[in-house]
Order: sequence, then structure tokens, then C-alpha cells
Amino acid sequence: MKTAVIYARYSSDSQTEQSIEGQLRVCEDYARTHDILILDTYIDRAMTGTNDLRPNFQRMIKDSSKREWNYVLVYKLDRFSRDKYATAIHKKTLKDNGVKLISATEHIPDTPEGIIFESMLEGYAEYYSAELSQKVRRGMNETRQKGNFTGGFLIYGYKIENKKVVIDEETAEVVRYIFEQYSLGVYVKDIIANLTAREILNRGKPFARNTVYNILKNEKYSGIYRHGDEVFENMYPQIVPQEIFDRVRSKINANKYGKRSVEVVYLLRHKLKCGYCGQPISAECGTSKTGAKKRYYKCFGRKNHNGCRKSMMRKDQLESLVVSTIIDELSKPRTLDQIVAGLLEEQERYIKEHSMLNVLLREQRQVETSVENVMAAIERGVITNTTTKRLKDLEARQEELERQIIIEKSKNAVRVSAEEIKMYYKEALALEAQMLINYIVKEIVMYDDKIEIFFNKPTRNSPDESRGCFVYKGRKENFDIEIWIV
Ligand SMILES: [Zn+2]
Repeated sequence: MKTAVIYARYSSDSQTEQSIEGQLRVCEDYARTHDILILDTYIDRAMTGTNDLRPNFQRMIKDSSKREWNYVLVYKLDRFSRDKYATAIHKKTLKDNGVKLISATEHIPDTPEGIIFESMLEGYAEYYSAELSQKVRRGMNETRQKGNFTGGFLIYGYKIENKKVVIDEETAEVVRYIFEQYSLGVYVKDIIANLTAREILNRGKPFARNTVYNILKNEKYSGIYRHGDEVFENMYPQIVPQEIFDRVRSKINANKYGKRSVEVVYLLRHKLKCGYCGQPISAECGTSKTGAKKRYYKCFGRKNHNGCRKSMMRKDQLESLVVSTIIDELSKPRTLDQIVAGLLEEQERYIKEHSMLNVLLREQRQVETSVENVMAAIERGVITNTTTKRLKDLEARQEELERQIIIEKSKNAVRVSAEEIKMYYKEALALEAQMLINYIVKEIVMYDDKIEIFFNKPTRNSPDESRGCFVYKGRKENFDIEIWIV
């Protein structure tokens, strides 16, 4: 039997995007009809496909080298990567590891056309890579010939010496500080406040928000200067380390996508459910007598008069209560230790109950029973072409199962380590509020006196089969609050 892992990705950049659960369902259906056994799932939440910082994607690519499965199954090829170039590179890595990428909804046939399409994609990758380095080389040659700052506006952090752009250490330090802080999840307004408090100003005035954003978005700080199609790598000396620059870029993209459709961000939208009637809790906006906007979260069932009595809750109050509870709890080493212990225990139980070995052993028992039944039929004198063929098939399957069972027994189950679990939750803490919620919160169930928060988890057992792991219970602002990982 062929084996596969599923890779699913969800970004909040599109209202119409298929949910993780939806993607998994489609992939699982595909696996069932094509007789493929799913061994594992890798999920990235709130990640865009344009960067390669997706932690579980990276882990999947890395794990492929262990050669434990045949396919990576995705809902659509764009889940894998939106960048054709990156797609081809990663596919090549998978191919070298004997792993094939399959889309559950798009068909690339195993016909000559399909193969040509595949190789075109790979050829394109090689071409693109060669072309890019050629451009860089050509650009560098030109710059070497001219070697001068071509004029125009010189950006913050640099100065001109002998007609060349060089780093101005004093202001470059400020640029590094801005990138570093932003990459750690500090809001732009707080970065400005910190700079102003240290009397670091821009032309005598506190930095404007736009100036800071323009700095964060400027590729020159990573040492790259583009002019039309050409890339120049030695015109601007690099001020910001590549890793930090990339992290900032993906954060800016994520924020841009997150805010596209709504002016006011309802942090908890899509996550809240009414504990009384099970309906979603949605955003609601009213205007008070004084003309001020008042924002709430209101049960959708109650809004549609289904008899639910769940009271509304002020947007700001609920959001700060939820976010601060999550941050407070995750910041405690004791809580993290407790999460690690709980998830590891659950993981062990899950592996015990669901390992491939058990699946195979179960099938072996079933095949044995079938063989006995056919033998009994033969003993009763029912010997037809069908019974003989059936017996042959069963015996062949028995042999195959024995072979696979030996392989499985020699293999250690793939586990997530305590360190990886800790990293998952620590990484969440570095994110801005909206990203934090998207990344870590699966669902929040609201009652009038109780809030139940359910976290996502990094371990690989499928969500519907776990019993959940308790994290926190406490009372704040007239609510009993509980956090669970499910
Ligand atoms: Zn309700």
C-alpha cells in the first residue's frame, strides 16, 4: 500500500479560502479512493504561500529525507507554494527523496503531456535560477564600471563617500533597531515611542508611522537594489541581516492581507462560538446617542431570533481579556512544562492506538479470518474459480502484510519532541495579536459567565480523536476562563 502525508496551509488573506479541516477532509477522501494510507499531517496556520518560513512545511521537506512515505498530498498545488520557482525547487528535493507531490483537486496526468509539464516546471526553475544570477552578475559589472551612486534621494541609514553609498553607522543602528523590534512583534507606534523616549528623532521630529513602514519595506537595507529587471547586489551595503529582513517582510505581508477586507479588525472573528446555541458569534456595530461607534460580539443565533439569550459582549473588553490571558499563561515556564507533559503523554497514547503497525496487524487478523472462511467453504465443497482466485489474492496480501509489518516494527514512530512543542508556543508569543490568535486559537466557546479557549497544537495526531489537554483555569472580570489544547 502507498503511504502519504498531508500538507495543509491556511492563511487569513482570503475570505473564501478552504479551512484546514476542509483541506484535510478532501485529502483524506482522495487517499481513501486511491488506496493511500495517510501517515501524518503537517499544518501551517496563518501563513502565506509566498515565503518559505512556514515551519511545518520546512519540517515536512526535512522529514521527506527519511524516506518513510511515498507522497505529499495537498488540497491544491498553491498550498505547497505560490511561487513556481520555489515549488519546482522543493519538488526536486522531494523527488530526490523518492517522494511525489499530489494535488487532491488538480489532476496532472501520468501521461507524456503530464511528464512534459512536470519537466518544464523543473527546467523553468533551472532557467530562472541561471537567469537571475546572470542578471546579478551583469548588474554588478555595470556597477563596477560606474561604481557610483547614481543620484537621487539617499535613504536613511546611508551616506555618500567618494561618490559611493556607505553605511552611516549612527543612523544604521536605528534602522537595525526598527527591524529587530518589528520582527519581535512590537507595534510600530510603540517602536516610535521607544525611539522618541531615547531622543532619537528624524530631522528634529519623532518618526512618522509612514517613515517607519517605508524603512521596514525597503529592500535596500538587505543589500539588494533593483532597477527595472536588474538586480544590483553591491550598490547598497547590507544593514539588516537577511533572516530578520525576511521575517519582517512576511509579517508586513501577513498584516496587509489580514486587514484588506475590514477597516476595524475584529481579532476574534471566525473563532467565537456561542456556548448555549452553538451558533457563531459575530461582529456587531451600533451607534450610541452621542454618535460614538460601539462595537460588540453578538451571538448569530440570537441575532436571528432562534431563542438564544446569550448577552452581547464589548469588543475591546473581550479581546483584551482573551489576548492577555493567553499571553500571561504562555509566558509562564510552568504552564509550558505542563503543556509539554500533557501533549507528550497524549502523543504516546495516540501512537500506541494509531500506529501504522496496529493498522497492519488489524488487517492481518482480518485477512486471516477471510482465509479461514474461504478454507471452510472449500472444505464444504464450494470450489469455484472465484474461491480459488480469492484464496490466491488473500495469500498474496498476507505475504505483503508480513513484509510491511517487519518494516514497521523496525521503524520508530515519528514523534514531536518536547523542545518542538515549546518552540511552537514560544513562537506564538512573538507574534502580533491578530497573528497570535490565528496561529494558536482553534476556537473560543462563550457563555455569559464562562469562556473556554481551545488551542491548536503542534503534535501530529488528528484533531477529532484526541481527548484534549488541560492548560489553565482561572477567574477574571466575572468570567471563569479555561484553556484547553485539542
Ligand atoms: Zn447563542
